[in-house]
Amino acid sequence: MDKFYPKNIYPPKMPPGIERSIDLLTKPNEWDFSRFKEIMINLGVLNNGQYIPASNAPEKIHCEGWDDTMVELLRLMEQHGDIEFARSVRTDIHDKNITMGDITQGDDSKVQFDISKDKGKEASQRIVGTFHTHPSGVASYGLSPVDFITLLVQDATKDYLKLTGGNFAATMLSVAEFNKAVCAEFGLTMYMSIKENPDLFKRVEVVS
Ligand SMILES: [Zn+2]
Repeated sequence: MDKFYPKNIYPPKMPPGIERSIDLLTKPNEWDFSRFKEIMINLGVLNNGQYIPASNAPEKIHCEGWDDTMVELLRLMEQHGDIEFARSVRTDIHDKNITMGDITQGDDSKVQFDISKDKGKEASQRIVGTFHTHPSGVASYGLSPVDFITLLVQDATKDYLKLTGGNFAATMLSVAEFNKAVCAEFGLTMYMSIKENPDLFKRVEVVS
């Protein structure tokens, strides 16, 4: 299994000042939406180092601020069940706010998200997250093997994901189980919304 753990799979170390502020901001075990937003804005400053220290992964995250986007994407998904839709999340590191990109439409297996920036804000706006839907079917919820490959970027992850992704399709392992397995393999933290309150995302234990 060693070959799946190359040194460069993990993001570069954060600058010392930033690390402290991200560390303090992410420490609470439950994040309300304003904290979540502030964390995303601070992560935007890091640009390519958009990661939270794993030791500070909260148990609960409140996501009501994404409601409009989630409702709209779900509506589109219901209307056009066979194609993917996406929307990017941008932070402005000077204005300290969050804005959304346009909703974009893809085909049945992929979608490009809007990477444009507002006029005059090219230097300060940064994309820190994305939403996207999957066509209804096997991977209609959760991340797909291709999503993980995109997210983890490094070449070495591709072999693992092709393998597990292939097994996943062959065995019809549930999407949740596949996501858990990949998170456990790469030390990622996984969250799922709860039925009683779709705005609340709870951490899922990936190692039993
Ligand atoms: Zn996807």
